[in-house]
Amino acid sequence: MWQNRRRAGPCLVALCPSSLPPGSAAFSVESVVTAPIVILVEPQLAENIGMTARAMANFGLSELRLVAPKNGWPKKGVREAASGATHVLDRATVYATLPEAIADLHALFATTARERGQMKRVHAPEPALAEVAERIGRGERIGLMFGRERVGLTNDEVSLADAIVTFPVTEEFPSLNLAQAVLLMGYEWRRAAGLATLRFSGEMLSPPATREALLSLFANLEATLERAGFYAPEKREIIARNMRDMLHRMSMTEQDVRTFRGALRALDRKTGTGAE
Ligand code: SAH
Repeated sequence: MWQNRRRAGPCLVALCPSSLPPGSAAFSVESVVTAPIVILVEPQLAENIGMTARAMANFGLSELRLVAPKNGWPKKGVREAASGATHVLDRATVYATLPEAIADLHALFATTARERGQMKRVHAPEPALAEVAERIGRGERIGLMFGRERVGLTNDEVSLADAIVTFPVTEEFPSLNLAQAVLLMGYEWRRAAGLATLRFSGEMLSPPATREALLSLFANLEATLERAGFYAPEKREIIARNMRDMLHRMSMTEQDVRTFRGALRALDRKTGTGAE
């Protein structure tokens, strides 16, 4: 696979795949592609390339191909913008032309904000990435192509793609920042691949309080309030019922009940009414 690659201009040793001997670990990892490959055509700004690498790392994409990056490669500031996603940059490969960058792919999806009038399938990200996930599952290598910051992709470049992906954006402001476009596709890839599990959940750390605990809290609260002279005698029952409703609406956990009871005890101690 590496033999097909011809790089434009010099590249850092660390970023140069030719610095790896064939048969090394990096080669065998590379041959098992489990995510789509991101191809940036003539990207200009180091910030965007770095932020692309970061977005890719966020969503589990790792192979980045750069076609003739403007003003050479590597770029100053790219690592800073990647904010730690340097493994993506380290493995990034640079190509002189788009045909070389896509030679080994089985399918290519072009992202664009503009209608191209080409006889090509046009998809929203979600169905496009569903197809990508399905095809990667069959062992295919799939590329996602992104255009230049200023002018996007040319019609000729789009014509090399199997399908177009466009985002459901507003009429007035359809063009996303390059790295944000990569981020959006990365996110949809993760969802389509069934990998979009949350890293943590908001599950309750304490189980719901038993009714026994809750009823005993009501009793404590009402006794404390009684001692504090809170109830007008004729309204005691209705106020007590309203307060029980309030507490029910909180769906209290065991911990909530313990905390509330502790608070009542403290108030009782302070006011010298001695609840328990
Ligand atoms: N001004 C350019 C857009 C450049 S944005 C133009 O008019 O085409 C850089 C790249 O991000 C685009 O080439 C495309 O790959 C991607 N992108 C930006 N907005 C997009 C959108 N609404 N839908 C799909 N891809 C988009």
